[in-house]
Formats: sequence, C-alpha cells, structure tokens
Amino acid sequence: MKTPLIRSSKLSELNGCNVWLKMESAQPTGSFKQRSIGNACLNYVEKGAKRFVSSSGGNAGISVAYMGKLLGVAVTVVVPKTTSQTAIDLMRQESAQVIVHGDSWIEANEHALSFVSEEAVYIHPFDDQYLWDGVACIIDEVIEEGVRPSAVVLSVGGGSLLSGVAQGLHTHHLDIPIYAIETEGTASLNTSIQRGRHISLDQVTGIATTLAAKRVCEQAFKISQQQNVQGIMVADADTVSACLKFLDDHRTLVEPACGASLSILYDQKVSFSPSDEVLVIVCGGASITFDQLAKYVQQFAI
Ligand SMILES: *Cc1c(COP(=O)(O)O)cnc(C)c1O
Repeated sequence: MKTPLIRSSKLSELNGCNVWLKMESAQPTGSFKQRSIGNACLNYVEKGAKRFVSSSGGNAGISVAYMGKLLGVAVTVVVPKTTSQTAIDLMRQESAQVIVHGDSWIEANEHALSFVSEEAVYIHPFDDQYLWDGVACIIDEVIEEGVRPSAVVLSVGGGSLLSGVAQGLHTHHLDIPIYAIETEGTASLNTSIQRGRHISLDQVTGIATTLAAKRVCEQAFKISQQQNVQGIMVADADTVSACLKFLDDHRTLVEPACGASLSILYDQKVSFSPSDEVLVIVCGGASITFDQLAKYVQQFAI
C-alpha cells in the first residue's frame, strides 16, 4: 500500500534541513514488511504456492499471515516460545495457524522448514530478491511526490530494508549516503562494516528484537561495501526516548527498531546542511503497545 510522505516540522527544525518521514508505520500490518513480504507472497502465489510457511515471531510473520488471508492461501507460522503474545494474537487474527515451538528462532525455523514442500512455500524474512523489489517501491513513491532525497536514514535487521532502498536509489540514479542504524546489541552490519568482512555475531542482545539478526544477508553486506553506507549504532535507551518523542510529535507508536532510526534525528547524530533533504524510513512495527513502551521508559529511567 502507498504510504504518506510527511515533512516533519519538528525534526526539520531540530536538524536545520528538510526531514521527510516515509510512514511505513501506516501499512495495514504496521510495518514496511507489507512491502517486502507482500511482494514475495504475491509472486509465490502466481507461481502456484498453496501455503505460506514462516518462522518469524515478528512483523514478517504478521505480514505473511495478512497476505495469506488476503490471497486465500493457508499460512503456518512457527514461532519460538519467546514470541510476544501481541504478535501471536495479531497472526491468529489473520487466521494463520501459529505453532509455538522451541526456545529460540533456530529451533522454530527448523520445525517450520519441515512443513515446506513444492506447494508450501517458505517466506524468508529478509533474504530474497522479491522482498527487495517490494521495498524499492518506497523510493519510487518518494520521487513521484517530487522529493529527491540527499540522504536516507533506515534501520537494519537482516538487511532487506537496506537492500531494497539501495536498489530503489540506484534505479533513480541517486548516489547518496544511506545511514544504516542498528542498536549496540544487534550490530551485525555495523560490525561487518568495521571489520571489512561479513561476520556473524555470537549473540544478539537488547530490546530491539526486530533488528536481532546475527548475520545480515549477503546482499546487504555487498551494498555496504559498494555504496555510500554509513553505519551508526545507538543505545537501547536512545531508541525508547525517540519512540516516546515521536509518539508526542507525530502521534504514532513505533517499535524500538524504528526508534533507532528516529533517534539519529532527535539526537542530531549527523550534521546535515541546510540544503539537505533527509528521508527517514519510519519502518514502524506492530509488536509494541503503549504499556510495553511505558515499561521501557521505566526500565531506562527516561
Ligand atoms: C523487519 C524490520 C526491520 C529490519 O528490517 P531488515 O530488512 O530485517 O533489516 C526494522 N524495523 C521493523 C519495524 C521491521 O519490521
């Protein structure tokens, strides 16, 4: 679905340039996954998929469930025991079969793969060309609205958002910096950039579970080596503070995964020039409630 592009008066003033918000939080499932997973599901149905299989306990699983209902395709999502009840409820609301299995994603994913067949297609949360094609449309829409960004700020988990946005920018001949934001506990891309090789983290920590991929996809690492990608890490507390400010300023509740990107603007981590047109991908996230945000606020004494 097309999403609003909003000029944030508050963030523009704070950063002394134009700051544009691409409100992926306004997608029916609350995150940009509707672009990536949405496009993948459409394509696999055309190729004959009769069932979608996912192992994501987060926004990817929620979008697979949504797409299954929309397209009349059965959905099985296997999630680990650590998955929030909010996420499970959202998937069941879309009539997906949700199986809780295993202590971590690795075990849930293994179980999910046992359901895969010619007709039951596994939908990867971040590593598939169809996902990136869907995300690239975000940039098409921004250009259509007459905004030519001079920098993009986005969050990185497994790297599909980065891969798709980079692809969209390339299509429009925009060779501009992409600020790739991760939290300190989920810095699989930032660590790879620092070391100049594609690494896997031993563990991921912190509250931004949506960004908790131990290893980014090959495509995302490749882009970080070939294009102007600037990695920045932020603290969990900064993401919470940004979520809270964003709720007040733009009346939109987003996950810490999205707060990570917003914190770059709220905390003025990059000095932009007055002529800059900064595009922030407000990736959103449905696994957050006001109660949960209030708990984080207490936890970090904000
Ligand atoms: C999936 C997701 C991310 C991370 O996207 P990747 O493509 O895995 O890097 C960030 N924020 C939200 C809200 C997400 O759903």
